[in-house]
Amino acid sequence: IGIGQLSAWLLAPSIRPITEELHALQLEHRIRHALTHDEFRLVYQPIYSISSSRYVGVEALIRWEHPVHGNIPPDQFMGVAEETDLIHEITDFVLDQACRAASEWRNVALAQGRPPFHVAVNLSARDMERPELARTIETVLERHQLPAELLHLELTESVLAFEGTGFQLRQLKKLGITLSIDDFGTGYSSLSYLDRFPFDIIKIDRSLIANLGPNASSQSLARGMIALSGSLEMLTIAEGIETREQLAIAHDIGFDLVQGFLFSRPRPPAEIPALVASSVDPSRAQAESAGDRS
Ligand code: C2E
Ligand code: MG
Ligand code: MG
Ligand code: MG
Repeated sequence: IGIGQLSAWLLAPSIRPITEELHALQLEHRIRHALTHDEFRLVYQPIYSISSSRYVGVEALIRWEHPVHGNIPPDQFMGVAEETDLIHEITDFVLDQACRAASEWRNVALAQGRPPFHVAVNLSARDMERPELARTIETVLERHQLPAELLHLELTESVLAFEGTGFQLRQLKKLGITLSIDDFGTGYSSLSYLDRFPFDIIKIDRSLIANLGPNASSQSLARGMIALSGSLEMLTIAEGIETREQLAIAHDIGFDLVQGFLFSRPRPPAEIPALVASSVDPSRAQAESAGDRS
């Protein structure tokens, strides 16, 4: 048994009811079909810099447009994909699409005399078991002629379960890629990994941001996280900003970057250059209508 199989086994529930097992098998089959039938799309959500008062990047988020079942959110299929090697095909698809788009947007920005903006891609913890990960990503960057500074990778604390993670992250840093720790504040790990691994950005989880308004202790917690990230020379992103009140507090307590429905929902790539170039008056930013799901 290899370390990859072992870690996949550790991440997967060991015993589950036969109906769940059948469901997972069926889903696996459908994901495989979806990959070869072009059913996956990426949408992008802009990331706003408080200090420079403009959008500085976008996060790529996968969407499955199933011809019969409609839009299936990532939370409903990524788990099963992660139990199989399909996750690697998904990651390759996402990296390729996102880097290609980012490179096109960079060319447009440079032609218009605007600063280029980065694309952030979510990796799965399972990607840590690919020995050729950094080399694969380097090839994608070369293929699309995208400078590594314009690629950010988002990882959750689940990567800590993989022995090779330190090595992988150092390889990725050597390429010049920015590394973010996603959903920070939801895990149960010791914080020492922040010092041991070369992360550049902490993304504070939406659940904490949602409490910023009503809850003074959440504000203290967020201030503490910002102080911690500052002392480690990392930047902070507040994810899931939905209201002006949350934005005002995020601004007050010193977040560097903010992202959420208040600014924009994730959007198809064709809308991104105009969206990122648009100026925002944060005091007047408005949440988009609730019916407008993507
Ligand atoms: P995440 O990386 O933490 O992404 C943020 C999620 O929050 C996205 O959900 C986004 O649409 C949503 N969001 C953004 N702003 C707001 C807001 O103001 N309010 C609320 N309520 N939600 C907001 P989404 O797209 O459904 O993705 C869910 C998770 O699925 C992601 O969490 C990530 O863990 C995973 N995921 C998505 N795309 C990919 C991918 O390409 N690869 C991998 N490995 N995972 C992905
Ligand atoms: Mg993310
Ligand atoms: Mg997150
Ligand atoms: Mg998440």
